[in-house]
Amino acid sequence: MPPVGASMGSMRLGSVVKTGKRKSKRRRRRSADEGSYVCPSCGEQIVIPLDRSEGSDQRYVEDCPVCCNPNVISVEYDPAWTEPRVWAEAE
Ligand SMILES: [Zn+2]
Repeated sequence: MPPVGASMGSMRLGSVVKTGKRKSKRRRRRSADEGSYVCPSCGEQIVIPLDRSEGSDQRYVEDCPVCCNPNVISVEYDPAWTEPRVWAEAE
């Protein structure tokens, strides 16, 4: 048997895990409320979690996870809609 260990065994612990932050594939998340908007800067569709308890008319600024431009996100709930309305404008 040849001696083993010289070249193996020297692997570093704690290697850097690179998370590919490209086009995120659609996540199958069973979230009660989820909305999506199209980023006005890069045109990507961004899926965001929604919190209905925050009110039926929400407006907040969020950076686009793709191009990092700040967008003003508007969320509207209406009992007549099956889905909340979400849209974004460039700040
Ligand atoms: Zn963007």
